[in-house]
Amino acid sequence: MSSSVIQPGDIREVAVIGLGLMGSGIAELIARSGRSVAAIEVNQSFLDQGMARLRASLDRAVSRGRLTDTAREEILARIRPTDDVAAGVAGADLVIEAIPERIELKNTLFAQLDEACRADAILATNTSSLSITEIAGGTRYPARVAGLHFFNPAPVMKLVEVISTVLTPPEIAETLAVLSRDLGKTPVRVSDRAGFIVNALLFPYLNHAIRLLETAQATREDIDKAATAGLGLPMGPLTLLDLIGLDTSLAILETLQAEFGGTRYVHAPLLRKLCDARLFGRKSGRGFYDYRKQGTATDHQLAPVPAEVAISEQAGRLDELASQITAAGISVVPQPSNETGLVIVAADPRHRVLDAALAAGHPADVVGVHFVEAGNGKPGLAELVLPDVTAASTAAKAAALAARIGLNAVISRDRPGFIIEALAYAQFNDAVRMFQDGYASPADIDTAMMLGCGYPRGPLQMLDEIGAANVVSVLDAMHAATGQPEFTPVPLLAEYATAGKRFRAGVEG
Ligand code: NAD
Repeated sequence: MSSSVIQPGDIREVAVIGLGLMGSGIAELIARSGRSVAAIEVNQSFLDQGMARLRASLDRAVSRGRLTDTAREEILARIRPTDDVAAGVAGADLVIEAIPERIELKNTLFAQLDEACRADAILATNTSSLSITEIAGGTRYPARVAGLHFFNPAPVMKLVEVISTVLTPPEIAETLAVLSRDLGKTPVRVSDRAGFIVNALLFPYLNHAIRLLETAQATREDIDKAATAGLGLPMGPLTLLDLIGLDTSLAILETLQAEFGGTRYVHAPLLRKLCDARLFGRKSGRGFYDYRKQGTATDHQLAPVPAEVAISEQAGRLDELASQITAAGISVVPQPSNETGLVIVAADPRHRVLDAALAAGHPADVVGVHFVEAGNGKPGLAELVLPDVTAASTAAKAAALAARIGLNAVISRDRPGFIIEALAYAQFNDAVRMFQDGYASPADIDTAMMLGCGYPRGPLQMLDEIGAANVVSVLDAMHAATGQPEFTPVPLLAEYATAGKRFRAGVEG
């Protein structure tokens, strides 16, 4: 390829190939920035559909007062729809490919681009999980192929992952990063590795949530609530999986598994079963949740609230809880008797509640309570932890009590990490591993998860706030209980814990 790389200011004409979910958003974004766009589809019918989606998005912006009628017409005038790939890309300074996630389709298209594009044009792919190096390798000028990974919806989400292969000159990555900033995005630059930053951290966490569901750690609703109310995430993992599509999620996990091996990416059997049953999530009407039923929410009949509750150790948050219960007209005693309906003990994600339950007596009536602050001034959540020896009716009594005193709660089985720490700390460990491997800086990891997934704070900032030593001790307990090597704290996390060092030094919570 030519030695002079196109400068960001020289990118005036962009060809977007594939006007599906992503391509239509990307074309809109580029046209909004004042550049000309060739919007390319396989045939007129798909072109019409893609342009209709793009127009609808602009219309929404107009109706919300964010865009004038004139600006909408100017944006549309800059877009040239065509079903002729060669003609569409001929004048392009940059091509962004957003066709389906199938390597054979991408390879065929890139071979066509070899013939049809200017030799100095940059070719970018929006692939989520395929090897960009492999796509580049099949082309005549592989050095000009890079990744430009937008998030859905492209006009809204602020993150762009700019991906270089071993052949990409730094100037091309720089041009794409500057362009991304000019489009109002925050770019993070990484090398070509399965999942880049966001999907490599998101999907094992989603997979872990499925495993918690299939091993009866908690109900699907409580797993989702733990993530939203306990971690402050915009959506629970099972709801998010349904939105992404279970087939897509399975394919991404398989790519991660092929690249990294180990146990962390092995898909939960339930994910495969749902895919085999064609329950792909929202798009097929049913996945973890059933979207075909509208307004069928029924009022659950709550169990009677116990008249007497024992709280053996009334300190800290449990003391506050005792006051709340008393204020609700329920008597609180320090030691359980035969009249006591429920025995509350403090739960710690590093230890089994069972041991405290046996020590407190009346183990069948015991529930552990673990309070989690969501941060950012949000109210937080109580995990009600039930050892397997607890009577089945105790869960119902605990839920009834929580409802009576207005306690936001989820019910978890008695396994280290319960729900919230199990999900979050395993992901923190993955994030540290990514930094340890030299793949991305802590700041880029946090930025990517905040802007790509709507995290209120990045995982490494959250880890710092909790303390590396606390995270290590919970992971050690999870590892001891499950034998799963994926929960072993990575060496760098263990080192930071020992040294009391922060990953985001200087960043306050
Ligand atoms: P999509 O199925 O909605 O759209 C793909 C479009 O490409 C279709 O309209 C199809 O007609 C068109 N197409 C197929 N072959 C073509 C060709 N040879 N020339 C021109 N057009 C062609 O898919 P999508 O969800 O928009 O995903 C596109 C790419 O973006 C994939 O690589 C995907 O992994 C990636 N991606 C998707 C998301 C997401 O949330 N959906 C997020 C980030 C990245």
